[in-house]
Amino acid sequence: MTPAEWESLCDRCGRCCLVKLEDEDTGEIHRTDIACRLFDEGACGCRSYAQRHRKVSDCVALTPEAVRRIPWLPETCAYALVRDGRDLPDWHPLRSGSPDSVHEAGISVRGRVGGSERTVRLRDYVDHIVDWAG
Ligand code: SF4
Ligand code: SF4
Repeated sequence: MTPAEWESLCDRCGRCCLVKLEDEDTGEIHRTDIACRLFDEGACGCRSYAQRHRKVSDCVALTPEAVRRIPWLPETCAYALVRDGRDLPDWHPLRSGSPDSVHEAGISVRGRVGGSERTVRLRDYVDHIVDWAG
């Protein structure tokens, strides 16, 4: 797969740009509806994609190696699907031919973001845990 083909696998759902909390005792991952400080909900993407790793130190580069080892990719994520040998769903833009199908199918985070790292206080993060983002 070329780098461009690899990049095109991303359906632009934005789920991986939501803050995740890890339980220190159990290692369990909890997903929130709080978006990364660089996330643009309207565009459903990163405001500074080319500079993201410089601007957000914990933004993870989804290389094939990283996809094999990280445990928190949403089950709808195309990288997780390919990793697990599953087919892309009908709503995936590579199958539908439309970048909007991920929104129309209710998979993306557009309209569901409950706050931003910029504004939500750390102590309130637990109030933003959601069950739909995985
Ligand atoms: S969860 Fe996967 S498919 Fe969705 S935006 Fe992130 S990398 Fe792309
Ligand atoms: S820096 Fe950009 S790509 Fe990385 S998590 Fe934040 S919004 Fe998403």
